[in-house]
Amino acid sequence: MQILASQAAIALENARLYQEMQREIDTRTLAERALQKAHDELDARVRQRTRALSDTNQLLQQAKEEAESANRAKSEFLANMSHELRTPLNGILGYAQILKRDQRLLSEHHAGVDVILRSGHHLLNLIDDLLDLAKIEAQKLDLQPVDFHLPDLLRDIADITRLRAQDKGIAFVYVEPAGLPAGVHGDEKRLREVLLNLLNNAVKYTQHGQVVLRVACDQPSTARVDLDCSVEDTGMGIAPEQLEEIFVPFHQVRVQQHTEGAGLGLAISQRLVHLMGGDLQVDSTPGQGSVFRFRVSLPVLPAWQGRGADIERSIIGFQGRQRHTNIKILVADDKPENRMIVRDFLLPLGFEVEEVANGSDCLQRAAELQPDLILMDLVMPLMDGFEATRQIRRSRQLQPVKVIAMSASVFEQSRQASRQASCDDFLPKPIQLDMLLDILGTHLHLEWVYDTGSATEAPQPTDNRPWTVPPMQELAPLMPLAQKGHIMPLYEQIERIEQLDARYGRFADALRRHADAFDMKALCDTLRSHMESHS
Ligand code: ADP
Repeated sequence: MQILASQAAIALENARLYQEMQREIDTRTLAERALQKAHDELDARVRQRTRALSDTNQLLQQAKEEAESANRAKSEFLANMSHELRTPLNGILGYAQILKRDQRLLSEHHAGVDVILRSGHHLLNLIDDLLDLAKIEAQKLDLQPVDFHLPDLLRDIADITRLRAQDKGIAFVYVEPAGLPAGVHGDEKRLREVLLNLLNNAVKYTQHGQVVLRVACDQPSTARVDLDCSVEDTGMGIAPEQLEEIFVPFHQVRVQQHTEGAGLGLAISQRLVHLMGGDLQVDSTPGQGSVFRFRVSLPVLPAWQGRGADIERSIIGFQGRQRHTNIKILVADDKPENRMIVRDFLLPLGFEVEEVANGSDCLQRAAELQPDLILMDLVMPLMDGFEATRQIRRSRQLQPVKVIAMSASVFEQSRQASRQASCDDFLPKPIQLDMLLDILGTHLHLEWVYDTGSATEAPQPTDNRPWTVPPMQELAPLMPLAQKGHIMPLYEQIERIEQLDARYGRFADALRRHADAFDMKALCDTLRSHMESHS
């Protein structure tokens, strides 16, 4: 009985244990199921996320491709636009240059022609700036170094700026540094562009006071020169928080109604200075003025030492090697106005000029005419300039003829392609007539005949006005101004003295000449000697 009871207890205990185990198994199964479910959910979520991520990646890739293609389209658009805009500008600037040279033009018309030329060049600069920006974005902006006369370039830039400053009633000072080498090797066009941009800004953003171009040169060896260029103004200045932004393309700080310009100049200048191995820096105090400075190092051309600047004289004809035979120029261009400009410019100088409108006519006419030189537009219908030049080079009869490519395309590729097609030189459009003459002179070995009447070094008429020194009380205020280099009040005081009495005119002129050269020492010396004579 007892055994039965204990067996029953065991069976009961077993059943309880079994039930417990069963419960545990159920719980575990439930937990496992829950785990599996959670796992499945996680898996699904990961897959979903991965899909979403890959979709995003795809979208990003697509957006990147679209942006790149938009950028390419923009660059292409800008290049095409530039070509389209340059073509009519060739007509405007070409004839303005021809008119400017015409002796029959009345003096009142000269001013009008100058306005056309200036406005045309301004437009051309804007187009060039837009193109440069496209080139910066495509990382295609590069330098094209040449040999050039450094003092000549700086004087030229100073002359242009002096006129602008005068128009605005502010002073401009440039003192040529001692020991400036004559010949250097570098990208003259780009150096001019950077300096003119800084100087134009300085004049543009200055209402009172002065703009100073300072160039310090240091020649660590005979082979190189380091130029420290700075442009200082006493203008409106730039707020500290805007100093970084002014180098960003299209950025203009609109403090006043200065709307001229596109906000591209500094962005391009900074890039160009970097390409030249320097860095464009700025210090500015709002209300007091700004200083922009950069340093470039250029190779020196020792053979140029002592060589003077070229004197600008008007060419009125030429003497060739074969003085008695005509020099024949064939102009191939599909645009009649482009042909007309070249013809109207070259005929009066004594060249024989013929015209054709496409490459195949050019070949035919060249065979009959046997020209000395062909000015060949590169893009023409029927047969373009490249093909025409290749065929000319294959013809034995036309072998000696010089072929000069002309193009409004600003891409280096067209220049290179013209070289590959064996063109002798390249003339960019809008045509600069001086450059055309340079090319003709070089390739045809011409000796130019200059208009001696209009040489720039015409003797100055002698000044017969009396030299009368103003009284001490008028001279005294000049001295501290000269000692501190306060150029604007100095000019004002000189003018005041001049207006007191016409007899002080010569003395005032002498002071003004020193002030123009910013030679404060000479000015002080002159003042001192006259003040001493008074006392
Ligand atoms: P833009 O002169 O065509 O506006 P820039 O790129 O040359 O374009 O100059 C960008 C901006 O920097 C100008 O709009 C002007 O606000 C500021 N800036 C440049 N130079 C000067 C200066 N000398 N004085 C004051 N502000 C200047």
